[in-house]
Formats: sequence, C-alpha cells, structure tokens
Amino acid sequence: MRLAIIDYERCQPKKCSLECLKYCPGVRMGEKTIEINEDTGKPVISEVLCSGCGICVKRCPFKAISIIGLPEELDESKIVHSYGQNRFKLFGLVVPRDGVVGIIGQNAIGKSTILRILAGELIPNLGKHDEEPSYDKVIEKFKGTELQSYFEMLKERKVKAIHKVQYVDILPKVVKGKVRDILKRVDERGKFEEVVKKLELENILDRELDKLSGGELQRVAIAAAYLREGDIYFFDEPTSWLDIRQRFNMAKLVRELKKVVVVEHDLIVLDYLSDYVHIMYGVPGAYGIVSLPKSVRVGINEYLYGELKDENIRFRKEPIVFEKRAIIDYKNRPILLSYSDMKKSLGSFKLEVKGGTIYKGEVIGILGPNGIGKTTFIKLLAKVIEPDEGEVFSEDIKVSYKPQYITPDYDGTVEDLLSSITNIHSSYYKSEIINPLQLEKLLDREVKELSGGELQRVAIAACLSRDADIYLLDEPSAFLDVEQRLAVSKVIRRIADEKEAGIFVVDHDILFQDYISDRFIVFSGEPGIYGKGSEPLNKREGANRFLKEMQITFRRDPETGRPRANKEGSQKDREQKEKGEYYYE
Ligand code: ADP
Ligand code: SF4
Ligand code: SF4
Repeated sequence: MRLAIIDYERCQPKKCSLECLKYCPGVRMGEKTIEINEDTGKPVISEVLCSGCGICVKRCPFKAISIIGLPEELDESKIVHSYGQNRFKLFGLVVPRDGVVGIIGQNAIGKSTILRILAGELIPNLGKHDEEPSYDKVIEKFKGTELQSYFEMLKERKVKAIHKVQYVDILPKVVKGKVRDILKRVDERGKFEEVVKKLELENILDRELDKLSGGELQRVAIAAAYLREGDIYFFDEPTSWLDIRQRFNMAKLVRELKKVVVVEHDLIVLDYLSDYVHIMYGVPGAYGIVSLPKSVRVGINEYLYGELKDENIRFRKEPIVFEKRAIIDYKNRPILLSYSDMKKSLGSFKLEVKGGTIYKGEVIGILGPNGIGKTTFIKLLAKVIEPDEGEVFSEDIKVSYKPQYITPDYDGTVEDLLSSITNIHSSYYKSEIINPLQLEKLLDREVKELSGGELQRVAIAACLSRDADIYLLDEPSAFLDVEQRLAVSKVIRRIADEKEAGIFVVDHDILFQDYISDRFIVFSGEPGIYGKGSEPLNKREGANRFLKEMQITFRRDPETGRPRANKEGSQKDREQKEKGEYYYE
C-alpha cells in the first residue's frame, strides 16, 4: 500500500503552474491519477492509480507532496482514522487500563489524535473518510478486543473522560475569571486545598487566567483536570513550561489517579510517571502506528534503540544514544572569562553568585527553578548590567540569547530571518544547522505561521548563527520531540567546539542536560525573591547538589546507561538518600 500525502497548507495552486498535474505520467496518459477538486481548487491524488514515480514530489515548487510506501503488514483494513484523502492516517490504538499508560513518539505521529479518540471527542472513521463515522461501526471493528467494551461505554456516554489539552495557551480564550473561582468550580473531588499546595498555586489564586505565564497556566490546567471526577484522565504534554520540581510535583499528583493516558517527551518524567508505554512510529504528518504495550523500562529502552523486540520491527536506523561526556581537562583549555563572587539587587529580587571561570568551548547546564535569577546572571557576565558587589574579568563580551518565551513577531519568512544574520547558503551552514534542525522545509514559511516546535528550532538556529562569545539558550527543548532534542543537543555541542564559545543552557529535561553539559551551575532560593548561584561544578557534584535540593534520587539503567528517577520511598530511593548519593553512578 502506498500513501500520497499532500500538505494542503503548503499547496498553493494559484502560485504554481500545477506542475504536479502537468508532469504526472499517469495524467499524461489520460488517467485520473491527479485531479483538481472543484471545491478547494487543490489537487487530489488517487493512491490506487499512482505508480509512485515521485515526479510530482520533485516538481512541486512548494514541497507539498510526499509519496510514501507503507510497511507490508499494513493495509487499508488496519486504518483506525484518516483525516481525509491524501491526509494523515492512524494505524492502531492504545488500550486504556488501570494505572498510567504513556505514549512516546515524534511530533505529528498521531498521539493527540489517539487522546481525542479515547476521550470521545473524535469518532474514528476507520479510514472511510467520506462516510459518516459511528460508534456502531467502531464497536463492530474492535469486536472481541478490550477496545470493544471501551467504545460501547463511550457510545452510551458512560465514560467520563477528563482531558488536559496540549496547548494550554488557548485556555484564557475559552475560560475567563480568577484562578481560585475556576478551580473551585471544577472541584468535584473536594481536593482544592490539597492541589493548591501540591502544585504551589497559592500566589496566583487571585490572578485572572489571562494574566498567567505559560508555566502557571500549565499548572492550573493540570489542577483543573485533577480536581474533576473522571473515569479516565488524559494529559497531553503536561511538562511544557514547568521546571524540574514542578514536573515531579505534577507526576506525583497524576500517579494518584486511577486510570491515565499521558503523552510526554521528557523521558525521565514519562519513565517516573508511567506503568506501561506504547511507542508510536511511522512518518510524521503521513502515518502513525502504535506498538503493543510494554513495561515502562523496556518501552523507553526500545524507543531509544529504535527497535521493537516483540514485534520484530526496526523503526529507526540509528539508535538514540545519550552518551556520557568525557570529563574535560581544564588545565589545557583557554579561559573565556572569570568572575568573582557577585551580588545584585533588582527591585525586591536579590541575586548572589559564587565566582568561577568559564572556558572556551564549554557547555554549562544551568539547573534551578524559573524566576531565580539565571538570566540576570548571564547579563552580569555580559556586562549588560553592573553587579552591586564583585566583578567580571573579561574583555567586552558579546552575548546571543534565545529567551524562554519566543514570540513570532518577525515579518517575513524563515529564510529572510536567518539570511539577515548569516550566509545560510554555505555548505557549512547547511550541514551544521539547516539539516540537523530540519529547517529545509521551513525556509519559505512565514515566521508568524510556525507551530511551537518549528518556531523553537528556528529560534535556536537564529541564536546560534549570531557571532558571539557567550550563547544563552533558555529552554531549547520545549515543544521538541525526543529526536529533535537529540539533534539540538548535537548542534549545540558542535557550535561550542567550533566557535570556542561558552554556551549556557537552561533546561528542565534532565536527560537532555545530562547529555549536553560539561559542568553545571546550580541555582536555588525562592523564585521572585532571592536566588543563589553556585560556582561551576563538575557534573556529579552539581547534579547531586541539585537533586538533593529537589529530594529526588537517580540511578542509571544498567542496559542503556540512561538516568532514571527512583520512585519516592522505594528501597533505592531510601538507600541513596541515606548515603547522600542523589545522583547516579
Ligand atoms: P501528535 O500528537 O503525535 O503530534 P497529531 O495527532 O496531533 O500528532 O497529528 C497527526 C497528524 O494529523 C499531523 O500531521 C496533523 O497535522 C494531522 N491532523 C491533526 N488534526 C487534523 C485535522 N483536524 N485535519 C487534518 N489533519 C489533521
Ligand atoms: Fe502546485 Fe504543488 Fe499544489 Fe500541485 S501540489 S498544485 S504543484 S503547489
Ligand atoms: Fe503521478 Fe508519479 Fe506523483 Fe504518483 S508519484 S501522482 S504517478 S507523478
């Protein structure tokens, strides 16, 4: 079976000369391989008539077409949902069960589609996109499986599904009012006080929803889902915008619920949170397949290896390897800058940092909660602001900064933006930035129209393309899937080496930080009131200090070496806390 996928947002028949139609050998022989839909004015490809020659893919000036061969075992009868002819198809589903079921996979592989189906928001059409979908057909299709009774209950509206959506930033558009009132209104389980405490919402209870930051909004959305009485709960990317402590607070809360399905890209949190996982693979934007359920350790390992053992399927050529970084011998490294102990007050916020030395080519991971002075620290290093006490010893330092919240306020295409910074047509730029960050297909897109993950990759590229001595990337992993996170960390490492710059990375994905950083600076204190930054610490000591502050212990998976959080109160957790060994060996 072959899929012909058209990205109808890219397809612009008024601006091309219908190259797809003009050059298709089928059409030239008089067949209806490609036809123009009268209502939309856009092409439709017949997957039955298409020979898969790929000419239209090459000819389309807007790169709107993909022709994809499906694995042999898939055929039309296995489609659970199709968004239409030449659009995304989903093969397979997740079976909800008691406990927490996690879903891992690339962006645009169908994860949110599954949540919408299981939450009863979308009746799957079983691939028959021109017929009216109905639960009766779905029940017939899944007869004799666990999903049969689940859909029967959905049909009879006997499942109360609670869904924390992915894009929490749309919430203020649909719900108005103060946080306290909104949460009290949905408190069907009488746990308002408890959730306010556990998610640290005390200070924002009297704020209007549209005055909240992304991280605050995320916690309110999680709290609202938790407070409601449901038979099953769905959490779509609950860690976005949260710092590490907030991520684990969320995870502990979600684990209290009886039946949960969660989609998450922070593998450490997903690992901590889930009892089982399903892996999703396929071709993003074209089709997605769901694996059998796996125990969480095996599932995450198989995802990283790119191979499903039980199914005997290799779905990615290269394994994702988060290698241990060799420890740098600092004696031989040129110094980028040094600084003494420093103090700085900004309004009512006070920052204190211990002095240190940063070497050229180093990646420094900054660990700590949001609002604790990390950006102020970088501004001190860059001499954008002066310390009240202490000093930075350096020539003039240029800084390039990617903020945490990126707003697409640029008028023009991605190519315009990047070209205004550097020569993007050099082969160096292509191989170091464009290809690994998958920007090729985004170049002709308007910056304002990019999705969160696309904008993130463009913002990272823009930041690293500027000429600077220090780069500060605030949360580069946000909205990226696991594979994109790995690609970004490789790009950052290479740029650090080549430009002999110092790169500071603030990020709350510990797997990403573990892979990317040479050393850690740990910030602690109270957000918005005071912050204390450590000197640059070797990774072991830095991580240990940070995790001790969080009261979370980590071990390493013996098979892959990846870090795993111990469940609170487990034997390992207690043993490690007793020994003061919060970090893993
Ligand atoms: P994920 O959650 O894994 O990122 P989604 O389930 O959101 O993936 O989407 C899978 C694919 O289906 C994407 O290519 C997306 O663009 C497409 N898609 C999602 N919703 C619709 C829709 N209503 N109409 C057409 N295509 C859609
Ligand atoms: Fe033009 Fe490409 Fe659309 Fe065909 S698919 S109509 S070539 S933009
Ligand atoms: Fe026509 Fe070839 Fe494109 Fe199929 S792949 S629609 S046969 S040009």
